[in-house]
Amino acid sequence: MSLALRLSMAMVCLTAATTLTAGVIVYRQSTAAALPLALDALRSHTALLADDLLGYVDVAREDLLVMAQSPAVREYADEAEKASPVQGWHGAPRQRARAARLLVALVTIKLRYDQLRIIGRHENGREVVRVDRQGPGGAARSVASAALKARAGSPYFEPAFARRGDDVYVSTIAYHREEGGGERPAIPTMRLGKPVLFDGRDPQFILMADVDMRPIFARLSSALPPTSTMYLVDEAGHYLIDGKHRDEVTGNETGPVGRIQDELGGIAPLLASTKPAVLALQDADGRPMAAASWPVLLVGAQRVTILELAPIAELMAPTNASIARAILAVGSVAGVLAALVAVTVSYRVSHPLRSIADALVDVTRGRPVSLPVRATGEIGALARGVAQYLERESLLGALVSSSIDAVLTKTLDGTITSWNPAAAALYGYSADEAIGANIKMLTPVDRRAELEEIMQGLARGDSLHAYQTVGIDKSGKRLDVSLTISPIRSPAGVVVGGSTIARDITRTLADARQLRKLQAETAHAARVDTAGQMAATLAHELNQPLTAMINYVRSVQRTLEDRGRPEDDKVISYAQKAMEQSRRAADIVRKVSTFIGNKQSNVCHQMINPVVEQGLELALLGAGKQSVIVTRDYAEGLPSVSIDEVQIGQVVANLARNALEAMASVSDARLTIRTAASDGTVVVTISDTGTGFDASIRDHLFEPFITNKPGGMGFGLNICRSLIEAHGGTLMAEESVEGTIFRFTLPAAQG
Ligand code: ADP
Repeated sequence: MSLALRLSMAMVCLTAATTLTAGVIVYRQSTAAALPLALDALRSHTALLADDLLGYVDVAREDLLVMAQSPAVREYADEAEKASPVQGWHGAPRQRARAARLLVALVTIKLRYDQLRIIGRHENGREVVRVDRQGPGGAARSVASAALKARAGSPYFEPAFARRGDDVYVSTIAYHREEGGGERPAIPTMRLGKPVLFDGRDPQFILMADVDMRPIFARLSSALPPTSTMYLVDEAGHYLIDGKHRDEVTGNETGPVGRIQDELGGIAPLLASTKPAVLALQDADGRPMAAASWPVLLVGAQRVTILELAPIAELMAPTNASIARAILAVGSVAGVLAALVAVTVSYRVSHPLRSIADALVDVTRGRPVSLPVRATGEIGALARGVAQYLERESLLGALVSSSIDAVLTKTLDGTITSWNPAAAALYGYSADEAIGANIKMLTPVDRRAELEEIMQGLARGDSLHAYQTVGIDKSGKRLDVSLTISPIRSPAGVVVGGSTIARDITRTLADARQLRKLQAETAHAARVDTAGQMAATLAHELNQPLTAMINYVRSVQRTLEDRGRPEDDKVISYAQKAMEQSRRAADIVRKVSTFIGNKQSNVCHQMINPVVEQGLELALLGAGKQSVIVTRDYAEGLPSVSIDEVQIGQVVANLARNALEAMASVSDARLTIRTAASDGTVVVTISDTGTGFDASIRDHLFEPFITNKPGGMGFGLNICRSLIEAHGGTLMAEESVEGTIFRFTLPAAQG
């Protein structure tokens, strides 16, 4: 799976999780915030129901007031009152019939009345008119006189007579069955009563209206949302409408039975309140419920309370659903947008990373790479870092593969991990053969212990520089090698292996041996040459004294012979022998001299600079570890000189060696060799910063046996001068500010 895909998926999942979490939180908060609104809506609904109920009963009250003021009722009451002492309730029959017609008309039009009555005080509260709905087909009818009853004992009788003005008596709502009602079910009824008043007279009649509450109850119940349950209870909590068990509301003359608080204990606070209220409670099944109450004072006297209950879950369901839909819609849009952003961002982040990763793969396959080095931010920095790293790698790779030294790397257990062409050339193994093999195969058996030690040192982080040892190649040939070994550390700094640079020094060692041999031979030749020079000098020096000796001895011999004394004969013969021996000695010296004089010198045209350099190197070879700054200032285009190069080289070596010896104890030791042309000669100058000439020998430098060195012979400068002069040149010495300067000239070769 690609990085872009993984990043996108991760970001999309993250976005989805975030949106979901945010959605859940917003949903919770919104639904919590919506609860009071839903409760309010519930309460408003109870208010509507209450209004309806109030209106229903108020209309009955208004009707009653209107009836009490109606001419038909008043005329009847007036006439009947006047006639009553004599005629009882039989008085004013015409007016009574008229009043009865009015009531029949009212009951006919207004369904809310179960019955309307006029009750007199006389004859034990006898009904004078009773209009009910017991006529054929439920029609209104005025009950026959025989069926009229005395009502003085009824609970409403006296209270109704006691009302004055517009005050109306109101009963509680009671379930009762009208006597003679037959199969009629008990119906919820509310009774309103009002006396028919005449100024200055005690009322003798009351108007009673039995209001059938069923229509309003039915209306209230039907106006209910399906999730809600409505109850109407009286002041004591008795059910007037039991929304839960609608058909089970029963009652009797004293009122309904069954109390809501007995079933729903939590409702009590609502019943106690005279103001509209809402409440959260649990129903009998433990469900969370919302309850709203609206107390109603019917006709200003009877308190009933409308209660509406709804399960909070169902109450909130529509709101919750719309909140959920809104959140889902917003969440989906946000999710899709976030997913688009996620995909774009992950592509933009992963694409450059991918190209960096591809570049690294391409590099290992030797393909050209392209890196997003111009990118900004971390990606650009990474790309530039990788580019630099690759450049360095390629540089190192080029260095290693083009190195003339064998370069290889190995792990700490000696396994070879890389192998350059020079290593293949030196040891004879190809890279395929060497990589993975052990370094031991490059080490002769007798050197394995040494290898072991080197590897242990490497593990400790030790390096080796130009360590000379012996290796072995594929054919088994031993090789003199110089090894430089360095530890390779992991990025954490732990030594994980080592690099080895192996240089074949077989030739170098052979060359060095050859050089040493040559040096020994040269030194020997020089010594022989010096001995010859010494012998020549001796011969030259001895010749004169020997000649003088011979002359003196001959003089002695002649003097004695001239005296002619026999006793001198012996002395004369001794003098003769001494002379012979002296002549012999002189002869030997002469022969030596002749021999040296005849010595073939190898003179030929030479360029001076290489000869000087040769002599200088000879001197420097003997300088050992003495630290001297040597400056060569050789002029170019010098004329050639006709010289014996060994002899002139010997002169330069001698002068340079003297200079080095004079600087042995000097801290700032500088030797300068200069060649130049001057007046048909070539001039060679050797200057040093040494001690200068010893005062005792300053004026006798070129004489034989003049030396101030413990093992010195004092012949060097003498021979040098002889050799230079033999070449037609001059050798001179002078003191400088820093030390001494020796200068010799050689005539430029003719032609
Ligand atoms: P030797 O080197 O055997 O002493 P030389 O004839 O070569 O004989 O030198 C004679 C002496 O001259 C040396 O002992 C030394 O005291 C002095 N001498 C020669 N060259 C130098 C020099 N460059 N600086 C100082 N003294 C020198």
